[in-house]
Amino acid sequence: MTTAALIVAAGRGTRAGGDVPKQWQIVAGRMVAEHTVARFADHPKVGPIVLVLHPDDMELADRFPSVICVPGGATRDQSVSEGLNALIETPPARVLIHDVARPCISDRIISEVIAALDTSPGAAPALAVTDALWRGENGEVTGTQDREGLYRAQTPQGFRFADIVAAHRAHPGGAADDVEVARAAGLTVAITEGDEQNIKITTPGDFARAENILRGQMDIRTGQGYDVHAFEEGDHVVLCGVKIPHTKKLKGHSDADVGMHALTDAIYGALADGDIGQHFPPSDLQWKGAESDIFLRHAVSRATDRGYAIANVDVTLICERPKIGPHAASMREALAGIMGVDIDRVSVKATTSERLGFTGREEGIASMAVATLIKE
Ligand code: MG
Repeated sequence: MTTAALIVAAGRGTRAGGDVPKQWQIVAGRMVAEHTVARFADHPKVGPIVLVLHPDDMELADRFPSVICVPGGATRDQSVSEGLNALIETPPARVLIHDVARPCISDRIISEVIAALDTSPGAAPALAVTDALWRGENGEVTGTQDREGLYRAQTPQGFRFADIVAAHRAHPGGAADDVEVARAAGLTVAITEGDEQNIKITTPGDFARAENILRGQMDIRTGQGYDVHAFEEGDHVVLCGVKIPHTKKLKGHSDADVGMHALTDAIYGALADGDIGQHFPPSDLQWKGAESDIFLRHAVSRATDRGYAIANVDVTLICERPKIGPHAASMREALAGIMGVDIDRVSVKATTSERLGFTGREEGIASMAVATLIKE
């Protein structure tokens, strides 16, 4: 049974401050709307996703290649209707309607709303009001309000698709949310457990709260790698994927790319996933003379399979010769290409060891690397 997500991002709200509408402001490294879309895109039970944009924002649709982007209407009701229309040709069984300004939505809330739709035509998260409630005027308390039975409504609000389409068509407009539209059509709406972190960005201070929540939910990992290969008779070395003419070559089972090996181990290290020798045992003849990009590609795929992106890597080569500087740009390009990341996330630098030790005596080359992985 398919469950679509319909994210309403057509508002022009200015209460949150800033030069652009709140959904396009940056929080925790990306636009509010990108966080919100990613939460639904990453949920295993959700798809397709419809994003309703303000007609003036349609050029931003390019940022959401796997999302159906449609222009919204003058009111929230109309925007939701436009989003529902975009799904009518291939109707999903259920639809979750969500405010773009709630980027901290959790997997749990989404799962619970979907599950509740098995037994109810509508379901939405909410939190029971726990604070005392007052009425006030001119800065003074004028009365109290019983909080019994009062809830703070959140989104996503989920419905069986055909029901909510019919409810929107029958509604005269002006509803506060989709639960109001559903109830006007006689649909029962179950209350699921909301979350204090599922905040709606409304005022300028909410950006800082959202930033803290989103950063706190990120899983950031760092790994280090170290490798050494000795020189032997030869006429070139391969370092970070680049072949460099030299008076010796590096000795090793594979192409002996010491820089790429250190980097590969750094990624395995960040994943707590063993090391290069464990994944590619030197005793296994099939890796003899292998090009080291096989190892690096493997480590990167282990990371992406687990939902991590490469935030940045930094490789240091330690040798007197060959000179690395003239080749560093090609090395960065080669590594970035293999890992599928932008070149500005890849650093390759070099140092000598002032003629001290085995690298100083030009008996071999050492390399150190650090990799940072991030899962949002
Ligand atoms: Mg090695």
